[in-house]
Parts: sequence; structure tokens; C-alpha cells
Amino acid sequence: MRIVLISTPIGFLGSGKGGGVELTLNSLVSGLLSLGHSVDVIAPKNSKLFKSNEKAKLHLVEGEDQISWQHQDYNSPVIIPDNSLLAGMLEKGLEITKQADVLLNMSYDWLPIWMTINAEIPIAHIISMGSESSVISNLISKVYAKRPYNFAFHSKIQAYDYPFIKKPIIIGNGFKLDNYIFQDSMDGPLAWVGRVAPEKGLEDAVYAANELGEKLNVWGLIEDEIYASKIEKSFPDGVINWMGFLANDDLQKEIGKCRALINTPKWNEAYGNVIVEALACGVPVIAYRRGGPSEIIQHGETGYLVDPDHKESLVSYVEIIDKIKRKNCREWVEKNASTDIFANKVLDWLNEIINEYKKDEYNK
Ligand code: UDP
Repeated sequence: MRIVLISTPIGFLGSGKGGGVELTLNSLVSGLLSLGHSVDVIAPKNSKLFKSNEKAKLHLVEGEDQISWQHQDYNSPVIIPDNSLLAGMLEKGLEITKQADVLLNMSYDWLPIWMTINAEIPIAHIISMGSESSVISNLISKVYAKRPYNFAFHSKIQAYDYPFIKKPIIIGNGFKLDNYIFQDSMDGPLAWVGRVAPEKGLEDAVYAANELGEKLNVWGLIEDEIYASKIEKSFPDGVINWMGFLANDDLQKEIGKCRALINTPKWNEAYGNVIVEALACGVPVIAYRRGGPSEIIQHGETGYLVDPDHKESLVSYVEIIDKIKRKNCREWVEKNASTDIFANKVLDWLNEIINEYKKDEYNK
């Protein structure tokens, strides 16, 4: 198959602004290439793919970023800036897909979804968030009625954020296991990893570390400076160790040394890449039972699931984290979330879409 991927219109690949989509895209490219498929990636200027993905053809597009939907009001209208990066990437994608089998959109935005019912070529969408915008949800509902196969989700719980989705196509996510080294140290620090933004709930993890008289190592892009400094001021000095944003290879080495990852989302997390990255290094995860994490973590086997926003339970589970065998964590990822497993699920889904379009062609 020749597959054309459209990246997120928020930040170049490698900037961290695109959140988990950056890694998901690279994982998918790895899986598709290793299964012998041909891949074109359309991404913002300055984007870089992982070195092992150099067989994919990268097309760079210049333009203005979109505003991320999780930081807009739910009822905001769609804003498309002049010299729109998203429109530029779509234009390029539509052109290249004339010689390809399918256009696979990984941006969470209105325009590519709208194009689905206004273009002849198959456009598939990996939806990377829960319902974060009324205008997008309404559009998905309209397009879904005509083309239910064209949407895939990372987790069931994410898909059910869109009440009209009756039989969701779930593709999970994938991780290149060679890139994650298993580490068996049980006495490292506590970790938190993610974009530092309100929907990620860092404050609850800091609370737990502080109650235990420990420090919390925090890795990730500080997306919201005001939010970050507000948290810092609410706790004693030095509880948070700001470790900055690291490239994936350096990040995994650091996370692997940690005793546990604490994950405290305040929104319906679509999946939660950082959870699986920690597990791949052998690090158990304590997370709120909210969104994707509740489908990933095996309570008592690879970590613990805590009632959402119940900070005291977070503390109690951190205290017994050494009951979790680190090997179980790595094994779960090997059995459930490798790049090949992920790419095969995506390919089955894309084949279904392509067959639907062929049937339409036949019936014309
Ligand atoms: N990440 C990174 N360097 C860091 C911290 C995080 O590359 O220092 C990446 C991490 O590998 C993960 C992504 O940021 O892929 C966060 O994805 P997740 O699905 O957890 O959350 P999202 O940002 O998409 O809401």
C-alpha cells in the first residue's frame, strides 16, 4: 500500500507541541515500513522523522499553526489563519494521494474531516482526542453517518466521548520496543511526564509526592507558564524537579530509572503515550481511572488505577508500588502495543475503507 500521512498542524515534528501525535506518527511509520508499505509524511517545516524512518518520504510545508482545540472554548468557531499550515498540508496531501491508496489524517481539526465528504479519494482519520469542540464533534457526526469506517480511535473510552459513535474502530497505539531499555531498579525517584497544561493535572501528582516527603521529577514541555508557576507556588520549594523536555531516546533512559510514573489527567485522555513508554522501560504507573489509562493499566499487575481526583488514594498506591513486578510492565507492552501490532490494526482498518470506496465505484 502507499499511504500518505498528514501530521498535526501544531508545531513541527520534534517540537513537542504536537504532544503524543508526534510519537504516534513515528511509530506508525516504523510499523508500516517494516511491513513493507510505502509511506509519505506531510508535516510542518523543520519536522524530522526518527532516524530509523528515513525510508519514508517527508514533505515539508510552511504556514501558520492552528490553535490547539483543548485550549479553546468548547463552543469556539473554527479559525483558519491566513497562509494556513493545515490547508497547505491538505493541498499537498490531496495531490500526492492521486498516486497513493489512502490519505491518513492525524490532525485533530475541522478542515480535513470536512474534506472527507467533498473529495473522491479515501480520507481516513485517526482521532487523537476526546470531544474537545462542538463544531468538530458535530462535523464528525455528520461525516460518520455517511462514512462510518473513516474514523479510528485510540481507546474505547475516548470513542464514547462522541455519543453518536456506535461501533468504534479501536486501534490502540504502538511503540518501537528497541527504543526502550528495560531497567529493573526499584528505588528511583517518582516521575511525571507530559505537556504541562491544566488538562494534565500535574498538581495532583505533586500533592502525592509532597505528602510522601519526596520530590517529583517532571519531564515535558511547559505549555502553560502561568499554570506551571501557580503549581510551583502552591507547594514547598524544591518538591518539583523540573527536568525539561527531552527527545524520546534521552527521555526513556531517565524514566527507566524511576520507581513509578504518576499520571493524573483531568480530561478524557485519548490514550496516554507516556504511560506505555514508562511500562516499556519497566516502570509501573499509577493513574486516574479516566480515559485511555483505564484501558492500558492492569490494576495490580502493571500499576494501579485510582478513582479520578482522589489524591489520598494516589498516595496510598505509591506506597505499595514495589508490589508490582517491573517485568510485567515490559511484557504487557510487548504483547499489546508494539509498532507491528499497531500497524497491522491500522492496515486492517485502511483496507476496510479502501474496499468501501471500491464498492462505491462499482455501484456508480
Ligand atoms: N514527550 C517527549 N519529551 C518529554 C516529555 C514528553 O518527547 O520530555 C512526549 C512523550 O514521548 C509522548 C508525548 O510527549 O509521546 C505526550 O503524549 P501523551 O499521549 O502522553 O499526551 P498528549 O500530549 O498527546 O496529550
